[in-house]
Amino acid sequence: MIPVSEPVLGGREAEYVAECLATGWISSSGRFIEAFEEAWAGYCGRRFGVAVGNGTVALQLAVAALGIGPGDEVIIPSFTIISCALAVLYAGATPVLADADPETWCMDVSQVASKITSRTRAIMPVHIYGHPVEMDPLIDLAGRYGLAVIEDAAEAHGAEYRTGVGPRPRWRRCGSFGDASCFSFYANKLVTTGEGGMVLTDDEQLAQRLRFLRNLAFEPGRRFLHRELGFNFRLTNLQAAIGLAQVERIDETVARKREIGMRYEAGLGGLAGIRLQTQRGWARSVYWMFGLMVDRETGLEGSLLAARLRACGIETRPFFLGMHRQPGLLQRGLFGGEAYPVADDLADQGLYLPSGVGLSDEQVDQVVAATEAELR
Ligand SMILES: *Cc1c(COP(=O)(O)O)cnc(C)c1O
Repeated sequence: MIPVSEPVLGGREAEYVAECLATGWISSSGRFIEAFEEAWAGYCGRRFGVAVGNGTVALQLAVAALGIGPGDEVIIPSFTIISCALAVLYAGATPVLADADPETWCMDVSQVASKITSRTRAIMPVHIYGHPVEMDPLIDLAGRYGLAVIEDAAEAHGAEYRTGVGPRPRWRRCGSFGDASCFSFYANKLVTTGEGGMVLTDDEQLAQRLRFLRNLAFEPGRRFLHRELGFNFRLTNLQAAIGLAQVERIDETVARKREIGMRYEAGLGGLAGIRLQTQRGWARSVYWMFGLMVDRETGLEGSLLAARLRACGIETRPFFLGMHRQPGLLQRGLFGGEAYPVADDLADQGLYLPSGVGLSDEQVDQVVAATEAELR
């Protein structure tokens, strides 16, 4: 079976973890935590990094630290992982949805303005499958309405967006755009710590607040005094050790992911019956997962192509199911009667192919050939 994704731990991971074991620094204290935070924040062009236990709690911590709570609304894409909705709901706030763009599969930025109400506090763009969201119009909207931007860059380590904000257009990395920008370092992400996450920001006060809430909200003056309710969202030094070694190799990882993505594009781009994620001129994707959508006109659903590929020894995954189709959210009275047709198309017709950084060119070619054959 060609797996959808496998981590590659090809650098100094073992050496750094061995150092933790030898020195006994295995909890959330130790030199690798700060080294990892600084390395990742620096790579993304940010001042501060706050490492946490996973990407979901990175979002939850960002929402909490920004003071979002009951009565507030946060605009998120319907086509995303449930972590985005959970982060908002756990704060007692309400997620409000926007549909996906049919070409980039990211949040349709043109829908966001119409979703803003007097209760809106933040926008949470998600760079889907490694392709950046069109950030400039969102940043502009956020500025005009005084909203925070919580950037979910969990699938876009190293991806770049060409922004026209500032003196001249320039390419900036995903993770550099939010008031708070969140990453996951789960095993299938471009940088992994097994489980892990981070919130980046340039705002020193927000960074302090993130650190305070991450570690149980201990009052600085009196350790076991708590005026506020925090979380234990700490990352361990062992995980950070792996993360630092991963960051040291990020350029190689991004380069190889782009090679794999472009090889798939060359092989599948002209094929009748499927559509690929369109890379816009302002985007440099990192092809976190290489997805395709089967045209409804073929009479095939995404799940049928997936079953056929599995029979050929090729593992795939279905796309996200829109937040407006999640029973657990609908039961709470959310999104009643709302329609997000692009997210529906993606959910029903989409799947992603093996995309791990360790994939060989021969394996990519094998997947391309099988996809071509099974579509007929
Ligand atoms: C992976 C992912 C997350 C959640 O990260 P975990 O580390 O699995 O909690 C959040 N948002 C997006 C877009 C993701 O892909």
